[in-house]
Amino acid sequence: MTRPAVRGAVIDAQTRCAHYRGPLDVIAIRFACCGEWYPCLRCHEEAADHGILAWPIDRRDERAVLCGVCGSTLTIEAYLTAASCPRCAAPFNPGCALHHPVYFEM
Ligand SMILES: [Zn+2]
Ligand SMILES: [Zn+2]
Ligand SMILES: [Zn+2]
Repeated sequence: MTRPAVRGAVIDAQTRCAHYRGPLDVIAIRFACCGEWYPCLRCHEEAADHGILAWPIDRRDERAVLCGVCGSTLTIEAYLTAASCPRCAAPFNPGCALHHPVYFEM
């Protein structure tokens, strides 16, 4: 599987960015509005010329989350029910849940 290109203020190969650079900040999101991958909503805000559209609730089968550690992509459904990457076991930041309603219709 080809690892998607991640835009925005990416600072390392595990998709940490200028805004979220902690040990657990290893995912990137494919945004429903433009189909582009960014590490976080602020990266999207700075680089994109439009507002964020959340993924509709009936599209939870879209592979819209990238694990920056192993490069695998997760469906929205899988991501929302996982505390860590199903493939490489990298733990995800539970604090991201604060932003889930921005990325995904809940
Ligand atoms: Zn967008
Ligand atoms: Zn960012
Ligand atoms: Zn992984």
